[in-house]
Amino acid sequence: MFNFLKNILRKKVVVRFAPSPTGELHIGGARTAFFNYLFAKHNGGKFLLRIEDTDRERYVEGSVERIIKSLAWLGLNPENAGKIMVQSERLNIYKKYAFELVEKGNAYVCICSKEKLAADQEAQMKAGKPPMYAGYCREAGIKISEVEGKKSYVVRMKMPKSGKIIVDDLIRGRVEFDASLIDDQVLLKSDGYPTYHLANIIDDHEMGITHVIRAEEWLPSTPKHKILYKMFGWQEPQFAHLPMILAPDKSKLSKRHGATGVFEYKNLGYLPEAILNFIGLLGWHPKEDREFLSLKEMIKEFSLDRVQKSGAIFDVKKLNWLNSEHIKKASVTELKHSLADIFGHEFIKKDLIDKLIFLSKERMEKLSDFKEMNEFFFNLPSYEKSMLVWKNSSLEKSLENLKLVLEKISGVEESDFKKSKLEKIVMPLADERGRGDVLWPLRVSLSGKDKSPGPFDIMDILGKQETIRRINVALEKLK
Ligand code: GLU
Repeated sequence: MFNFLKNILRKKVVVRFAPSPTGELHIGGARTAFFNYLFAKHNGGKFLLRIEDTDRERYVEGSVERIIKSLAWLGLNPENAGKIMVQSERLNIYKKYAFELVEKGNAYVCICSKEKLAADQEAQMKAGKPPMYAGYCREAGIKISEVEGKKSYVVRMKMPKSGKIIVDDLIRGRVEFDASLIDDQVLLKSDGYPTYHLANIIDDHEMGITHVIRAEEWLPSTPKHKILYKMFGWQEPQFAHLPMILAPDKSKLSKRHGATGVFEYKNLGYLPEAILNFIGLLGWHPKEDREFLSLKEMIKEFSLDRVQKSGAIFDVKKLNWLNSEHIKKASVTELKHSLADIFGHEFIKKDLIDKLIFLSKERMEKLSDFKEMNEFFFNLPSYEKSMLVWKNSSLEKSLENLKLVLEKISGVEESDFKKSKLEKIVMPLADERGRGDVLWPLRVSLSGKDKSPGPFDIMDILGKQETIRRINVALEKLK
């Protein structure tokens, strides 16, 4: 009964992913989005998207669309799709709130020139001190009406000058900050745009965000945000800061460790299911240490108290393994769609494609391997006759055995030319004359490669005519 009441009283979970459109959606951003998504779905809550585009210098044209498309490819669709909150469309709202804080005495107008601030900063750095605003305008009481439309100005928040600010992080626990070391943060810039800090907390408040789940790099900003909530008199959300993603050598993850943008992974032939499985494990793991997980299983098992504090290692080998496992599990139709994304729609219209996908599913690490892996079905590659010889055997033996195989299979009707039938006919011969001595030259004659699927699978796909033609090519070489 008590739990029942608690559940009714508990606020519905609302979380958001709030990327800045400064380029591609990277693996780190995708992980943040995914943990928010998992948390929302696990708790029957809402997952929303907000675009934080107030830093116009870092804005990259087309990046909002790319981010939205990347999320869609991963299947992380926000519930506010269609009316996504975009900060640059809300400038008047932020201004109004900034003025409100000035009015209340929690923030102040600052008219210090850039040159003056830069000179101060330089002097502080030289003295080995962290650069901080010296507070010239803090008590000057400059009114908005004195500057608005007349002078260049910014609005700064009045940070408390002493005491501790405690952040109770859901992942990191209690983190203490010394208020005296935190700068009087600019809230409204001279171009009329809000800074990240102001817009971020106003929007989180207006969207009814209950949990802020974001990258660790934002932890030092959190005390400022807590003070802002207090100044506005708003209830603050709970905070959870996700661990950094590191390269295997524990350095910062970068381009040289492989692809970084989500779309690069798509083009390289990774399945979205595999990417989600992989990023889901970047800092979190389920109770029993299973690694191969479906989206459904991750939603069921996800909880923030199983997220680690220490850095998560990005291991491409694990990603490749997960991808191959998800490829094995996917249906031929699903894989066909993904292959079309990589090789184009014409490619998947080829005859035999379904059979080839079925056959390759077990052996592909990435879908981009598919074409090269199956090229030999369309064109027999040229190969050396020595390749037709099994281990320490001889050219003569290969010739003899291939002739016998050809004899046997020539008698099979075209319509009967199927894997099981061919196995029945050829295997007794192979058992009699040595499996390696029969099956190896046969497989090489059909594929022209030293690695390929087994000969019966290949014959089934090639059909009788092409099979016989290829065996004859081999016999010619051996004569
Ligand atoms: N715009 C920030 C970013 O791109 C979001 C920080 C936050 O979630 O509060 O990382």
